[in-house]
Amino acid sequence: MAEYDVVVIGAGNGGLTGALTLAKAGRKVLLLERHNVPGGCATSFVRGRFEFEVALHQLSGMGSDERPGPLRSVLGELGVLDKLEFVEMENLYRVVWPDTLDIILHAERAAIIETLQQRFPKEKEAIPGFFELVYGFSMEMIQGVFFRDPAISKEKYPLFFKYALTPTQKILDGFFEDPLLKALLGIYWSYLGVPPSRMPFGDFAIMFFAYIEFKPYHLKGGSQSLSNALLDEFLMNGGEARFNCGAQKIDISNGRVKGVTTEHGDTVLTRYVLSNASILETYLNLMDPEEAPHNALEAYRSSTIGPSAFTIYMGFDCEPGDLGIQETTNFITTTTDMDKTFSLWKTLEQQDVALFTCYDVADPEFSPKGASQAAFVSLQYAEPWYLVPPHQYYDTKYRYADGMLKLAERVFPGIRDHIEEMEVATPMTHLRYLGHPGGAIYGFDQFAKDSAYFMTSTSPVQGLYFAGAWAGSGGFQPTLTSGRSSARAILKSMAKG
Ligand SMILES: Cc1cc2nc3c(=O)[nH]c(=O)nc-3n(C[C@H](O)[C@H](O)[C@H](O)COP(=O)(O)OP(=O)(O)OC[C@H]3O[C@@H](n4cnc5c(N)ncnc54)[C@H](O)[C@@H]3O)c2cc1C
Repeated sequence: MAEYDVVVIGAGNGGLTGALTLAKAGRKVLLLERHNVPGGCATSFVRGRFEFEVALHQLSGMGSDERPGPLRSVLGELGVLDKLEFVEMENLYRVVWPDTLDIILHAERAAIIETLQQRFPKEKEAIPGFFELVYGFSMEMIQGVFFRDPAISKEKYPLFFKYALTPTQKILDGFFEDPLLKALLGIYWSYLGVPPSRMPFGDFAIMFFAYIEFKPYHLKGGSQSLSNALLDEFLMNGGEARFNCGAQKIDISNGRVKGVTTEHGDTVLTRYVLSNASILETYLNLMDPEEAPHNALEAYRSSTIGPSAFTIYMGFDCEPGDLGIQETTNFITTTTDMDKTFSLWKTLEQQDVALFTCYDVADPEFSPKGASQAAFVSLQYAEPWYLVPPHQYYDTKYRYADGMLKLAERVFPGIRDHIEEMEVATPMTHLRYLGHPGGAIYGFDQFAKDSAYFMTSTSPVQGLYFAGAWAGSGGFQPTLTSGRSSARAILKSMAKG
């Protein structure tokens, strides 16, 4: 029977970086993926002459050659940096509320403050103070938490201890009066899937800080090029990958991993498994019930499955400028009530905040010459889709997409007439392709209790580790980083014998 040092289940961001870290350390690694391409969310698909990006809107944590961010270092260590081409975006985002607000934030602290002070003169004094807190907090978090200061204490890191778990809305309310200003500053909440009233300030501050300081990036060739590069490097380092080959069972004996059986019925021996599948799938479906660690499962009883996404992928027969699209990242909103928006994610009612990303603005070569593409996305939970009978699924999906398009047309009139190719993905689509409960793209809801502070990549089952959104935070930077961390934990355990 074949034997491996580690079997990695799932080739999403966390699985790929984990597998590659282990292979680079000279370990014999088998990577199993149920889909036919690497990447999980980080993939693309082709319709007509367009290759559509599934997931990546703005890559965080990259930084420049001169001022590298943490993700640049991770990708450099993994040996894929030179194989990829990154495009820095000048602006964080544009927020448009038709007839009410239209503002662009440049990805630079002083410029953002100036823009906001001009548009919101009554809040002039408070605006710099808010950024001081975001920056002060983030510096403490980097020093104390990311660099693992052994002397971390309330006295040494007062902002971190005071505000890490404070709801972001409370901080915004403390600084500002104008709901428009609060809404536009907090708009990245949709990247985490938790409304400002329930999002720990620590999560918001470090994300906002990272996008401003290290800039948002676009990846030439989309996220599939990153997934392909990670896979190529893994294979070049002696790794073995099987696609269209999910893991069916983790064999456990006396509380210790012994092997993995694939859905094709082959069993391989191993003492270590790194699972990029969801924690729930791993414990409930990939092991015998008597082997599942009931205490660990009990700890997730109060956790809830996070949101998935509803996305319209559009290929246009013209360039972005012909449609009035000047920015890559456009948040379209018709409300400042983000709690209401969040509650709409659990219904099939029309959304009132959505993100319109046109990749060709940052990278004019992204689509075929003379054409362009955009993704119009709103997060959404799977629950309302579970209730749609199969025979009504397509009608429901296209009716819903039609409503979303009406929202987009309020900012970009006439785009509908230029759609050459269109595909629509619902939470059911993500459920089918990722195999995660609810098609969740960020793992569990990232409310304070399940934020990265309290999640673990280890398991009471000896030899079992997790990587990816379900074991920390969702999003590209955290999941790419998590695979490397979990792989290092496995290497450490192996070294102990
Ligand atoms: C529409 C959309 C927009 C997004 N926008 C952004 C963005 O702009 N910025 C950002 O940072 N993040 C964004 N995200 C989120 C980000 O893409 C994800 O959080 C991240 O990619 C998840 O990585 P992961 O490591 O958790 O693995 P996943 O991508 O969840 O992949 C898990 C893999 O495991 C495989 N698998 C599952 N079960 C098994 C099994 N039994 N056997 C073998 N394989 C298995 C699946 O097939 C899949 O390939 C977006 C996601 C989507 C869908």
